[in-house]
Formats: sequence, C-alpha cells, structure tokens
Amino acid sequence: MNRPRRQPERSCVSCGAKRPKRQLYRVVRSPAGVVAFDPVGKAPGRGAYLCGEDECLKRALPRLAHALDIAVAEEVMADVRTQITARRDSAVHGRVGAQGGPAGSGS
Ligand SMILES: [Zn+2]
Repeated sequence: MNRPRRQPERSCVSCGAKRPKRQLYRVVRSPAGVVAFDPVGKAPGRGAYLCGEDECLKRALPRLAHALDIAVAEEVMADVRTQITARRDSAVHGRVGAQGGPAGSGS
C-alpha cells in the first residue's frame, strides 16, 4: 500500500543532501550535553541529521560538532557511525514485518 504523504525534508549536516526525514539518521545532543545516535528520532535535545553514506559519515565529525554546537569526541562519532551503518545495512537486507511472516525460526 502506498500512501503518498508529504514528509518534511531535512538536510544532511555533513554533505547537505536533502531527504525525507525518515531516510535520515538523527544524532542528538541531549539536554545534558551527551551526543548520541537517536534511533527513534524523537529524543529530546538538539538534533542533526545524517544521510548515512560512507563518504559522508567519514567527514561528518566537524560538521556534526558545528550543527550541534558542541565538541564531538572521536569515539562518539565512531559509535554513531557504527549504529548508522548497522541500521542502514539491516534496512537493505530485510524488512521484518512487511510480509507478515514469522521471522527468526531458522531454516
Ligand atoms: Zn550526507
């Protein structure tokens, strides 16, 4: 079922690519000043969006720090990158629930 819906667009803070919000990955700076990947996209705090392209993620750190107005540590960036990559890859490989079949019962 296609339900064409106008979605708010956001720009990737690293490369500037415009995408519907759902296709971007949100990184949030919490009110406490902790930077982390936001898998739900609703965490409180200041958010910045990344498109998730490899090249883009590699260069994201300074842009992200600028967008969030806070220093982002290398290890935080590495963690964000890992989580975005993992989500991106799982989205490519399978859409659990889309077909209505039980998943995970082996072959
Ligand atoms: Zn990008």
